[in-house]
Amino acid sequence: MIDAHAHLLNEKFNASDIISSMRDDRLDKIVNIGTDVADSRQGIVLAKNNKNVFCTVGIHPEYADNTTDADVAIIDELASSKKVVAIGEIGLDYHFGATEEQKQKQKELFVRQIKIASRHNLPIVIHCRDAADDVLEILKEHRHLLLRVVMHCYSEGGAYMPKFRELDCYFSFTGNITFKKVDRTFLKDIPQNRIMVETDAPWLSPEPLRGTTNYPKNVWLTAQKIADTLEMSLEKFDTLSSDNTKTFYNLP
Ligand SMILES: [Zn+2]
Repeated sequence: MIDAHAHLLNEKFNASDIISSMRDDRLDKIVNIGTDVADSRQGIVLAKNNKNVFCTVGIHPEYADNTTDADVAIIDELASSKKVVAIGEIGLDYHFGATEEQKQKQKELFVRQIKIASRHNLPIVIHCRDAADDVLEILKEHRHLLLRVVMHCYSEGGAYMPKFRELDCYFSFTGNITFKKVDRTFLKDIPQNRIMVETDAPWLSPEPLRGTTNYPKNVWLTAQKIADTLEMSLEKFDTLSSDNTKTFYNLP
């Protein structure tokens, strides 16, 4: 099993403890996700020191207000490091009521990082919260520049799914797809070679651990729920999701 999206450098974690228990947790690989310049940089060091850890670099939309040209230039520079497997997480987040000006800044940062991914021939990891229409609009305009695209923590539901599917996006699911009132029926309509599973640890623990600190090993609980929905064995879903994640990030 691969955890396609985790934040091992979060203050809640001791990254080396998590990495040293990967074998016991039946985790082959973890992709550590960058959210700003500092943790993107640290992620590269973590990945260089640990064979089965890979990393992304990027600036999360919630930092768009304070991002400088110099920050974007550093992400561009870091993108050519070994073990950087994508640009992310990047995108749009209107959850806390962004003003028009803030939305504009987020869109600009998103597009600039799409262009970095394109220059380095890397896939992108999209964070999208309450902003699906604008993400779709930007993707439609720039999709041809991009190798591969994943909607991380896909939460837009069945109605939006075909629109992202049309743009040949991958769909990656966290613990929130296991929550009790969530409609999971649309999972069956996603092409099987476009489904991935992740934790987004330390956030979004799956049921029955909802509300607690999330760990990469909990990816198995989310995988089980998706496997049940797809009427597939856990083993088969593990192979499917791991293969898709390897293809997406071009992992060895
Ligand atoms: Zn994340």
